[in-house]
Formats: sequence, C-alpha cells, structure tokens
Amino acid sequence: MKLPHIHTPRCTGCGWCVAACPPGVLSLQVVVWRKHAVLHDEQGCTGCSQCERRCPFGVITMVKTPQPAKPEA
Ligand code: SF4
Ligand code: SF4
Repeated sequence: MKLPHIHTPRCTGCGWCVAACPPGVLSLQVVVWRKHAVLHDEQGCTGCSQCERRCPFGVITMVKTPQPAKPEA
C-alpha cells in the first residue's frame, strides 16, 4: 500500500491533486496561513497515485506504508 506524502512547504495550494483524487480524500486546508493540500482520510486513499501524477510541482511522492497484518495467502 502506498500513501501520498505531501511536501507541504512546496505546495502552492493550486488544488490540482484535490480535483484529481477519485475518492476525494485530499482537500485544501489552511496550514500556517497558507493553503495546502492535505490527505484528510488515509483510510479512504486507494494508493492510485493520480495525485502524484497530477501535481505540476512534484510536491507529492507516493511512499510505502507498512502492510496491514493479513492472513498468509
Ligand atoms: S493516491 Fe489516489 S486516492 Fe490516494 S490521495 Fe492520491 S489521488 Fe487520492
Ligand atoms: S497539485 Fe501539488 S501544488 Fe497543487 S495543491 Fe496539490 S500538492 Fe499542492
């Protein structure tokens, strides 16, 4: 499973990633008086990487998260 890491200081708040996210788990929020993209629902993120591809400034990097425990396949 991968989750987007948003490098907040470089985010311009343009909102492209928010518009690109199919389940709508990204939003623009004010962080220290500037608008930035925030992943507000990690559980709802499908790891599709659309946000990473869409960001014009390379602010988003998909990072691997530890696998949740699941039965052996
Ligand atoms: S990886 Fe996909 S689901 Fe997750 S925040 Fe980015 S666009 Fe949304
Ligand atoms: S597309 Fe990139 S710069 Fe624009 S709001 Fe999203 S993370 Fe920030």
